Amino acid sequence: MRKVVLKEKDISLGNLILVNSYYKLKREPKQSSLQEFKNNVFLDNECCYNLKEILKKIPNQEEIIPVSGFRTKKEQINLYTISLKENGEDFTKRYIAFPNTSEHQTGLAIDLGLKGENDLIRPRFPNNKLGKQFRHLASSYGFIERYKENKVNITKIAAEMWHFRYVSFPHSKIITEKDFCLEEYHDYLKQFPYPDKPLKYQNYEIYYLKYQKNKKIMLQDKDKLSGNNIDGFILTRMII
Ligand SMILES: [Zn+2]
Repeated sequence: MRKVVLKEKDISLGNLILVNSYYKLKREPKQSSLQEFKNNVFLDNECCYNLKEILKKIPNQEEIIPVSGFRTKKEQINLYTISLKENGEDFTKRYIAFPNTSEHQTGLAIDLGLKGENDLIRPRFPNNKLGKQFRHLASSYGFIERYKENKVNITKIAAEMWHFRYVSFPHSKIITEKDFCLEEYHDYLKQFPYPDKPLKYQNYEIYYLKYQKNKKIMLQDKDKLSGNNIDGFILTRMII
């Protein structure tokens, strides 16, 4: 057991942070928390480990290539500016997040393509055999397909079949089974406030903790705490 004081600045850290045009990124990950996945594509350590675990299970995994992972704010600005010039405003607004609203700046998002891919903004990652194998495994390893066609009205981002976001297990499973987008999941979790009313899933309990100044909580050894980048934290507790 350990006692933790919840800090306001930590609301914007963790695997479950919501980053979109409304809830902007407030802190960039430390360089030391990033790892090279492949071909100069960097990801958050835990995200990178789990992505590798998925690919190990796919026979033709070398056909799947990482197109884009972590981006610094500067890289996001460059990408946005270049696209404005080359593709115009409509396209750019549809497919490229404005700096500090991009999940790529968290290190928790990966764009995947198929070998021979050269479209850096909209790589092809269809639901063919390989794409199906990947999607089938993704939620067991903490990933969700982040921008789906049926959620465009909420995410305000066009469907992106190539963009996967690491949120960690079991959140990835719940989101996928309930067909939520991350925005909906965070709304849903508000029904499960700490400490009385957990969301129970398999051998996990999940709680929402609204930020309160100087609030202290007792954490168990395997507990995981993530900010939601909105107003508080999500506690994930494994029940033995
Ligand atoms: Zn992306």
